[in-house]
Amino acid sequence: MIATYYVTDSLSHDSGSNHPESSERVRSLNTLFISMEKERLTTIHEISPAKDLSLFRMAHDPAYIDFLERPPKPLPISIDPDTSLSPGSLAAMKGLSGAITTINKQIGSSQRAFLLARPPGHHARRSAGMGFCLVNTIATQALSLLSWNPTLRIAIFDFDVHHGNGTEEILGKTPGVLTISTHQYPFYPGTGSGRENHTGHSGEGLLDIPLPEGTTDDAYYRTFESCILPRLTRFAPDVLLVSAGFDGHREDPLGGFLLTEKTYRHIGKQLSSVFPSTFIVSILEGGYNLRALTNSVRSYMEGLNS
Ligand SMILES: [Zn+2]
Repeated sequence: MIATYYVTDSLSHDSGSNHPESSERVRSLNTLFISMEKERLTTIHEISPAKDLSLFRMAHDPAYIDFLERPPKPLPISIDPDTSLSPGSLAAMKGLSGAITTINKQIGSSQRAFLLARPPGHHARRSAGMGFCLVNTIATQALSLLSWNPTLRIAIFDFDVHHGNGTEEILGKTPGVLTISTHQYPFYPGTGSGRENHTGHSGEGLLDIPLPEGTTDDAYYRTFESCILPRLTRFAPDVLLVSAGFDGHREDPLGGFLLTEKTYRHIGKQLSSVFPSTFIVSILEGGYNLRALTNSVRSYMEGLNS
């Protein structure tokens, strides 16, 4: 059974008109989760928003968080050509902060969690948002877990089609953290070539796996089985945080991979069976074709549940 956490305030963030990162993404997935709850595959939990954005100061420069809390008016304003701060963005980020705290309290009780929220976060850098992302949710989740228990071994696995550059910048050299990303390369945001890969004495470090445009299910399986699972297994994480982006699907309008739902089911199933007692938290990142996104999330969740 997967505990799903839905941030309803996610609906108030507006990326802009005709923007692929729309509130319909989480609306569609919430409808999916309601039907999966009837099938006893998930339990849905509401989130209480935080009072402010102070939790994000763990991952971001204080001046950037001050800016997000008290932006110049009028809103919306552009953070970069693809990223806007809208009148409802602050509420969405307070919801994300509340979700991080709520999910962290579940460690040791539930084993599988999925955070349904937006905007995505893995491109958000220490001092600036970018690429649809305002704050880096997964990096903040990792750092807040470490502030609670500094001995935790935390692995991040990012299977979004884009490189998780912000997560890597924020967590790249954190003791006890292993960061793994598969992504299309060369592609936005231009990082993740693999040249900076490194391994620390206890298996922590960085593993970027660049894959070409046109990557298929079979090619992804081979990489997953030969590179990712062995590195994760050697590291033996207490907590596995997954940047779950589904824009590698062949029908996605932004990504150039040719993946199908089969890959997402395979990832979920393998993570669940190889790490039966590890706390696995999946956080929604990309995925911009609503039908492909919903089918892919369902397949991934069924894999995690099997
Ligand atoms: Zn993406």
